[in-house]
Amino acid sequence: MAAASADLYAFTRSELDGLLVRWSLSPVHAARLWNYLYLELAASFDVMPELPEKVLARLRAETHLGLLPIALASDSTDGFTRKYLLQLADGEKIETVRMRFTGRVTACISSQVGCAMGCVFCATGQMGFTRHLTAGEIVAQAVHVARALRPSPAKIDENTCHLIGDISQCAQRADAARTGARLRNIVLMGMGEPLHNYDAVMHAVDIMTDSAGLAVAGERITLSTVGVVPGILRLAADRRPLHLAVSLHAATQSERAALVPAAKKWPLDELMAACRAYSAQTGRRIFYEWTLIDGRNDSPDHARAVGRLLRGLPAQVNLIPLNPIAGYSGAPTHTVAAKHFQHILATEFRLPSTVRQRRGLDIAAGCGQLAVL
Ligand code: SAH
Ligand code: SF4
Repeated sequence: MAAASADLYAFTRSELDGLLVRWSLSPVHAARLWNYLYLELAASFDVMPELPEKVLARLRAETHLGLLPIALASDSTDGFTRKYLLQLADGEKIETVRMRFTGRVTACISSQVGCAMGCVFCATGQMGFTRHLTAGEIVAQAVHVARALRPSPAKIDENTCHLIGDISQCAQRADAARTGARLRNIVLMGMGEPLHNYDAVMHAVDIMTDSAGLAVAGERITLSTVGVVPGILRLAADRRPLHLAVSLHAATQSERAALVPAAKKWPLDELMAACRAYSAQTGRRIFYEWTLIDGRNDSPDHARAVGRLLRGLPAQVNLIPLNPIAGYSGAPTHTVAAKHFQHILATEFRLPSTVRQRRGLDIAAGCGQLAVL
């Protein structure tokens, strides 16, 4: 691969048209190439028979498919979660997670190698920041999961799985068959802070949502941010139909700054002003994430503080019991206390909330557990 070779996964459909026009080649070939990339999920120029040799020769010489080889794949024992350690061209690695819920599959994709934000309870934060991912590297993760979801030739259901005994493998194949083998949900909640890498992330979103390609609906993409205020305001102005999740974790500036160092740069009052502006401009509800840490931010008083903070805002609270990581000694909130927290939000503030299903903890694929050592 030549140094200047362009990653095809970084091209929108119109940019691909433009590339072929610049080469004095018909955009018809661009449309075919696009179909190979995103409908057939081709993994090589060798399986694009409808492209003439002169087009293929130029593509091979000046571009490449930025596939991310699997360095390691691990399955949770319940068969619902698969975590991929993917290799980048410069030797760095990232993690991407495929999660299966009832009737849907979600890809959790990364936006950076590491993260600069340093949240105290997050394994990615403890890695520090190495670099931003390119748009192509972000799209390639979605392509990777979409490809892994394609139905296997053997039609198989979960009853057969139990008979065969290999539950995890079978659950995945049954899952592919059941979900129509198409990736429909993406969460930008993997490694990194997506609004710290705004341009590449939005470029990737444009590619992943193209209705003639992967066709993941914008409404089925959730971007989670630590609270990068300028990014939230920009997202509001951009009017992309994404769901926004904001990691709150505390309802006072001092408590929040102790968990999320980025709060010193973007204080809570500025963050809430940006969230208000976002909801006012877009008419959208924001998900507020709250990692529940035993004895730290999970008391009834904390619930009332978040209730007061979000009063009048279109909001839903996503409670995430702390997932264990090596560098942080906190413990997750007990289920009873989490339920009580929810009850206060619902009854005293009419604030809807969910407790996030804990998935993939046995393979360190839960929120905040992704890290490459
Ligand atoms: N950087 C973004 C998105 C990635 S983290 C952000 O911070 O929002 C996705 C979610 O997992 C965030 O809400 C984050 O606060 C939460 N999280 C991080 N570490 C966690 C842990 N150890 N247990 C539970 N949730 C955690
Ligand atoms: Fe970065 Fe999000 Fe982890 Fe904080 S929680 S360190 S912003 S990835």
